Parts: sequence; C-alpha cells; structure tokens
Amino acid sequence: MGIGPGKRLRVPCRATTCSHLQCFDAALYLQMNEKKPTWTCPVCDQKAPYDDLIIDGLFMEILNSCTDCDEIQFMEDGSWCPMKLEKMRRHRRRHRQPRGSGR
Ligand SMILES: [Zn+2]
Repeated sequence: MGIGPGKRLRVPCRATTCSHLQCFDAALYLQMNEKKPTWTCPVCDQKAPYDDLIIDGLFMEILNSCTDCDEIQFMEDGSWCPMKLEKMRRHRRRHRQPRGSGR
C-alpha cells in the first residue's frame, strides 16, 4: 500500500470485542474494508465490525479540544477535519441560538 510519510493524522482505534489495547489506524482499516469487507482486526484477527469500533483516547482529546465542532469528517487518505468549525466560530461571537425553538 502506498502510505508514505505525511502530515496526515492517524485515528487510532480498536474494537470493543478486542482484548488487547493495541490500536490500529481506523482510516486505513475502513479503507481496507471498503475494498474487501472482512472486518477482522489486523491485530488479533478477531471479528471487528464497524459498529464495535472505538476510537482511542488521543482522538477523544482532539474532539474535546475542539468543542465547537460536533462532527469530524474523515478523508479517504486518513486525514480528518472538524466540520462546522468555521461556522461555529463566527456564530460564537453572536448569541448562541437554541436549535429549532423560538420559531
Ligand atoms: Zn483486535
């Protein structure tokens, strides 16, 4: 696979069904299963279905550090970007309006 050094961030994850703590790259894993959906953990070779994947604590830190974004979009090349961040920043200067109410 053509994975060279780059600035892309890895998204460490593993499955809840895994008994090990070692993580694998979520983006890469998804990419692999897009081509050939086996959904087996590359570490322990057990079943690791998408629904059972959990993201490592480091990534949760990223999520926590940008509380303005409520979504993270994963790119095919393994990078990610926070969604709505720009919008929310602008929004923040104004009042935060509760969604769906008052109309
Ligand atoms: Zn595993």
